[in-house]
Amino acid sequence: MRDSGPLEARVLAALRDVPDFPKPGIRFKDVTPLLADGALFRATTDAMAAWYEGAGVTRVAGVESRGFILAAPIAQRLGVGFVPLRKPGKLPWQRRRVDYALEYGTDGLEAHLDACAGDRVLVVDDVLATGGTAAAACELVEGLGGTVVGCAFLLALDFLDGRARLGGRPERSLVRLAG
Ligand code: AMP
Repeated sequence: MRDSGPLEARVLAALRDVPDFPKPGIRFKDVTPLLADGALFRATTDAMAAWYEGAGVTRVAGVESRGFILAAPIAQRLGVGFVPLRKPGKLPWQRRRVDYALEYGTDGLEAHLDACAGDRVLVVDDVLATGGTAAAACELVEGLGGTVVGCAFLLALDFLDGRARLGGRPERSLVRLAG
């Protein structure tokens, strides 16, 4: 069902399952208990950053909003800058937007035009579910002239096959749930 190992087990134990949030049928994985545990939060982002040491990452892009919380310490650990990929209407300067389909309706992500041109970018979010958000994040980065080095998540819900949406871009997750 999941990778073994002490950190992965501690992360899994710290994720709170909230049934029927934000709507019936969704089992929401709440990361706030993990974030509230300082040692575990640090060990988690250190481990995720370590996957990319020596990979030539020059920017870490976080997906609003929980992706920001993980991406910023990973960027600091790698010694590179952070790029916010924001929900539409939040960024003040010139921006590019990518829209993507949700189960019902659409959503979008935006980044500033100068956010990552020519950069080697690591895309970070908390959960990989159907992959639509991460695919849009990658498309946005690439549309701005960045190269996606990889996509990193705390948790992959493998039963939703989000990896398939990433078009072969490398993906790594600390914990994987098969069902
Ligand atoms: P998706 O585009 O379906 O891969 O959904 C990923 C985005 O939605 C991420 O930004 C997650 O934070 C959030 N998300 C989707 N499903 C869940 C879930 N079961 N628990 C927590 N967050 C989720």
